[in-house]
Amino acid sequence: MNFIHFDVDKCSLCHVCIEKCPFDALHMGEKGIEVGEACRMCGICVKACPEGAIRFEQKAGQADKSQWSGILVFAEQEQGEIHPVTLELIGEARRLGGPKGYEVNVALIGGEGTAERAEMLKRYGVDKIYAYEHEALGSFKADSYTKVMADCITRMQPSVVLVGATALGRSLAPRLATRFHTGLTADCTKLEMRENTDLVQIRPAFGGNVMAQILSTESRPQFATVRHKVMDAPERSAVATGEVVFCEVAEEMVSSAIKVRSVHAAERSCGIEEEDVLVVAGRGVKDEKGMELVKALADVLGGQVCCTRALVEEGYGDPTRQIGLSGRTVKPKLIVTCGVSGSIQFASGMKNSECIVAIDADPEALIFNIAHYCINDDLYEVIPPLVERLKQKKEVCSHAFSLS
Ligand SMILES: Cc1cc2nc3c(=O)[nH]c(=O)nc-3n(C[C@H](O)[C@H](O)[C@H](O)COP(=O)(O)OP(=O)(O)OC[C@H]3O[C@@H](n4cnc5c(N)ncnc54)[C@H](O)[C@@H]3O)c2cc1C
Repeated sequence: MNFIHFDVDKCSLCHVCIEKCPFDALHMGEKGIEVGEACRMCGICVKACPEGAIRFEQKAGQADKSQWSGILVFAEQEQGEIHPVTLELIGEARRLGGPKGYEVNVALIGGEGTAERAEMLKRYGVDKIYAYEHEALGSFKADSYTKVMADCITRMQPSVVLVGATALGRSLAPRLATRFHTGLTADCTKLEMRENTDLVQIRPAFGGNVMAQILSTESRPQFATVRHKVMDAPERSAVATGEVVFCEVAEEMVSSAIKVRSVHAAERSCGIEEEDVLVVAGRGVKDEKGMELVKALADVLGGQVCCTRALVEEGYGDPTRQIGLSGRTVKPKLIVTCGVSGSIQFASGMKNSECIVAIDADPEALIFNIAHYCINDDLYEVIPPLVERLKQKKEVCSHAFSLS
């Protein structure tokens, strides 16, 4: 796969490029200079060539958009399971491409068991699943995963590539975007597609004060990463559709400078992202008494307490439970906000929650623009009777249950 192009008519075979390449990626082949997989697109050879015989194959502004179509989703695996962000990306890819008839394909890369997991993806409405299985791909290695994914992109020529904004995805996507000399927008919160396949990648910018619309109008593919819990996963279908394409993994693709000595799974406490019910304390919660009220509400609802950044700064909130742009993104079934104004930075981390109940003293609070149920009152007055009512309801329900 060459992204550096040699003009054979201009090249005098002077070998300057071979000597200058810091990655030893160039060598003399049968038909002239050849570019190896070690190429990092640094461009030193382009500048060094005295004949001007070397150029990047795809430069900004040169992409022929008609050659790139469909959407490719990178399917991440974590400890032998498909990461849930993959299904959310498939759901979003279908929403974007479905009405326009674009193919939605998946690239699944990994070690033993990858082919079986490819079968499971057939139930989510994708067209093709490109499965690359090789024992050397069992652990994530940035260099070999980049080569394999680049092979898939070259094969499929997708207009858009979606990658989860996980630790792995954040390492892989920029490497790929660099290889293809194209743009990448990280942590998109919304995506739209124009008729000409330009992807409108929307994300907070300038500290969350504006929602920027970012486009790669002159290059393909267009790379975007999206955090877990931002998009909606499709329902699992009873019928398996789609086709699994088993792709050959060449030895050169898995040759890596990285040696994985051992893998230790970090102990994972159940984060607020996994909770179905959350009760959020904001700056309107002014003291320990207020925190106790919020905790009592969370207990009776069977949920967890979390907070805004303002409350973390006040010293009452746990930073690992902060929701928002600089905190966690959550999508629980129910979220109750208590004394939270609903700043854009906070809302960007929770606005996709299924049911939002907001308690705030200010009728103009922004949170009421996104809440499904609005309680415009003093939280110190609202929460105690609310907790009592919920307790009574619970007792009635458990009594009825024990009688039945
Ligand atoms: C780069 C950047 C990143 C940020 N990231 C985050 C982030 O991740 N998460 C985050 O939360 N913020 C973040 N912020 C801060 C954000 O801009 C807001 O300052 C913050 O969200 C405000 O928190 P709040 O709603 O608790 O406080 P406030 O905005 O002060 O709102 C308090 C609310 O409580 C109400 N209230 C007061 N008393 C009562 C009462 N007795 N009963 C009922 N209601 C009452 C008020 O009417 C008000 O609406 C970020 C800011 C920047 C610049």
